[in-house]
Amino acid sequence: MNEQLTSLLLTGGRVIDPANAVDRVADVLLVDGRVQQVGTDLVAPADCETLHLEGLVVTPGFIDSHVHLREPGFEQKETIVTGTAAAAAGGFTAIAAMPNTNPPPDAAEHVVDVLRRAARDACVRVYVIGCITEGRRGQRLAPLEELAAAGAIAFSDDGDPVEDEGLMRRALEISCRLGRPLFPHEEFRRITDGGCMHDGEVARRLGVRGMPPAAEDEMIARDIELVRQTGGALHIAHISTAGTVDLVRAAKAEGLPVTCEVLPHHFLMTDADVERHGTAAKMAPPLRTSVDVEAMKAGLADGTIDTIATDHAPHTAQEKAQSLAAAPFGIVGLETAVGLSITALVETGRLDLPTLVEKWTSAPARILGLPGGRLGPGDVADVTILDPKRRWMVEPAKFHSKSANTPFGGTELTGRAVITIVGGRLVYRDEDLG
Ligand SMILES: [Zn+2]
Repeated sequence: MNEQLTSLLLTGGRVIDPANAVDRVADVLLVDGRVQQVGTDLVAPADCETLHLEGLVVTPGFIDSHVHLREPGFEQKETIVTGTAAAAAGGFTAIAAMPNTNPPPDAAEHVVDVLRRAARDACVRVYVIGCITEGRRGQRLAPLEELAAAGAIAFSDDGDPVEDEGLMRRALEISCRLGRPLFPHEEFRRITDGGCMHDGEVARRLGVRGMPPAAEDEMIARDIELVRQTGGALHIAHISTAGTVDLVRAAKAEGLPVTCEVLPHHFLMTDADVERHGTAAKMAPPLRTSVDVEAMKAGLADGTIDTIATDHAPHTAQEKAQSLAAAPFGIVGLETAVGLSITALVETGRLDLPTLVEKWTSAPARILGLPGGRLGPGDVADVTILDPKRRWMVEPAKFHSKSANTPFGGTELTGRAVITIVGGRLVYRDEDLG
């Protein structure tokens, strides 16, 4: 991905770099894949392309730490080519791939295989999250040391929980030694058993089984206790309940190494949207109540929730055309997440733009130990350029993703990424940019 390294000067934009406490109009000079200088009135070296960015916002490259690329094994839904094109178009310079592929990355060779495919096909950086258990079956631990040595940045059985407490304890002990977090999907299946949406009035009206919040709350409470005992770090995937915000807030107050992420739909929609959008609003964890939505916004504002991610989960139209009970869980998110989060959080005054940028950049970089997430001299030249006031409409037919399973089609949003730069190279440029 670095075949033609060049210089690129970004002038006149508002540079927001939370890791370096920068928020001012400045120029950024990128040379040979690295940030060389951030300052005023920088002079372009010879053969340097200049982008004039007055009125736009220049940030470290956005990192989506929760993506289902579907390759290998489910290429009818997405591939590394289409998934990373969607990432670039959504403003992401790096993504972390969840392990529910076939084969799953539960052996070093499978981690290496995904990295090799990404080196060939990806237009943004791709990191691999290795399995916690063999085959993601929740029965025997995967060789976490070998996965880490092969390049896995964290461990998850995402899509499925690790129900067995003893396994989870050992996984935390090992991940603590390795200095890489567990990144679990928290859901007691004995509680959600056969459910397809939040357990509440809407599920009863639709005549489908519900997924009680206790399924999430109880497993997170268990795992926080295991963190207390083992010292292993936990980065909890996609929290959705007010109860889990309280649990994580208390764990942080105690000083435990517990962090968490939220997905845009969990601070935007409720279970009532399942009635409106059907299977396009079916995901796990499910859309909850307005009380939970408010808890997500409060958790983002007070720092309890560290990161925002998409859980980009492509499925074919045929798969989503099944009944609510039978259709698979998940929605695509890479091409809507930045607009949704600016619209829902910044435009409403719940978060300022630098705080939102931090949750998409330096926070995931810090938690997952990734390069990027900052724009100081010597840092990787991964840059996202935002137009925070651009008004646009979500048009799933125009997605770069192979799939279009979203409940946000036709939604008017404010703010989006207009240029995406990876390693100093433009990988996306909005066609409407002047
Ligand atoms: Zn999950």
